[in-house]
Amino acid sequence: MHENSAIGTKTASQITEDSRCQGSSADQDLLRDLVTANHILHDQGVVDAFGHVSVRHDKHPDRFLLARNMAPALVGIEDIVEFDLDGEPLNAAGRAVYLERFIHGQIYRARPDVIAVVHSHSPTVVPFSVVKKTPFRAVCHMAGFIGTGTPNFDIRDVAGDGTDLLITSNDLGKALAKTLGDKVVVLMRGHGSTVVAGSLKKAVYRAVYTEVNARTQAEASRLGEVTFLSEAESVTTSNSIETQVFRAWDFWKQKAAAATAAIF
Ligand code: MN
Repeated sequence: MHENSAIGTKTASQITEDSRCQGSSADQDLLRDLVTANHILHDQGVVDAFGHVSVRHDKHPDRFLLARNMAPALVGIEDIVEFDLDGEPLNAAGRAVYLERFIHGQIYRARPDVIAVVHSHSPTVVPFSVVKKTPFRAVCHMAGFIGTGTPNFDIRDVAGDGTDLLITSNDLGKALAKTLGDKVVVLMRGHGSTVVAGSLKKAVYRAVYTEVNARTQAEASRLGEVTFLSEAESVTTSNSIETQVFRAWDFWKQKAAAATAAIF
């Protein structure tokens, strides 16, 4: 779905020479964390060969950082590309970029509070995007950030019938950002979901627990009528639990590093 044409073969030094980036470089620790985020999201089953995670540039808020077009598990620091908010790559140097980069740019433009974005097709969330009457809501304290309802973007409403369901333009990105509104999660009908946060680690946490909540909600629904978190509980639990994101990050990072070592 997100495959693109040939991947460039330039070296890291050639990429730097070709760079159209002006101004300060992104923080190296932030780049390393973005690589880690890619590996964690794969290891935790949020992304497979598809899906992507970005972070807003630490020195240029009108730019973001996202890997070139490749499977997240394989991303290294040399694969990170800088983009403007229209999804224009500034230092791709011929490398293929993700078809759906417009998701990221347009959300950063619409939401100054957002620092990181995860787009995935995490498998248990997709069913909630295609059923008409079952809302996707927080059912457990670890996922209070989901709240009492989740907007669902149907590309057919804005682009008509016959699309490939992908967000492949700035207009579609804008429409998705509008549907997201001030929420944390937006479902994408028959496709996946996009999750945002005010930090990269929190975005990774939320993406993982969006999938966990979907599993829990689906399982609970099979047992009987579900008691969801209330609006007040959603706020209190997310404020409380999300102070503990570092614990998940540190563990998932080590686990993903072991898995990545096994791949190579
Ligand atoms: Mn997608």
